[in-house]
Amino acid sequence: LRFDEMEFSEAVKKGIRDMGFEEMSPIQSQAIPILLQGIDVIGQAQTGTGKTAAFGIPLLEMVDVSVKKTQALILCPTRELSVQVAEELTNLAKHVKGLNILPVYGGQPIERQLKGLKAGVQIVVGTPGRVIDHIRRKTIKTDSIKYMVLDEADEMFDMGFRDDIELVMNTLPKERQTIFFSATMPDEIRQFAKKFQKDPQYIKV
Ligand code: AMP
Repeated sequence: LRFDEMEFSEAVKKGIRDMGFEEMSPIQSQAIPILLQGIDVIGQAQTGTGKTAAFGIPLLEMVDVSVKKTQALILCPTRELSVQVAEELTNLAKHVKGLNILPVYGGQPIERQLKGLKAGVQIVVGTPGRVIDHIRRKTIKTDSIKYMVLDEADEMFDMGFRDDIELVMNTLPKERQTIFFSATMPDEIRQFAKKFQKDPQYIKV
């Protein structure tokens, strides 16, 4: 599929064009139409396949910019990936007015994040520990979250974040779209997906 033949908003199309994207990558062609229908996806894809835009573009389309509450939460294994994902989404969302995206991770002073969150952030990208910290402080409120993404799920499990992720998942509304991306699909991840996703569509590139 080509980006310019999709029925995206003009602002998102412009952002995609500015990035120089024309053809969708295989993971994007498979995931984007399904995600736009609100269906849960479990995607097996390595870094470099365009997986960030695969979940990011649908999020930009689906988030309501007039609502200044957290609507999408993306969990990443590391600070570096959190920053990278937030950057890619911010670039894609360059022309989307009123959309705020913020990375939150351990090691950065929490005050700076608090200030950012106060402005009303619709898409939060972060590492599990710091996200839990914000949920406990109620500086991230989970009741308005409609979209949950686990990026590099296998990496997060290997790093011992399983319980933390489960804790976060259990604070989310039941009515939501849940998206998992992982380079590998060990049994542990499949079981986890079974527990937290609803009729997920499995995609592999
Ligand atoms: P990712 O797998 O999300 O880390 O993306 C790998 C790189 O490919 C990033 O630098 C993206 O900006 C770029 N990219 C993603 N989708 C496309 C596309 N459809 N066309 C060209 N480049 C892309």
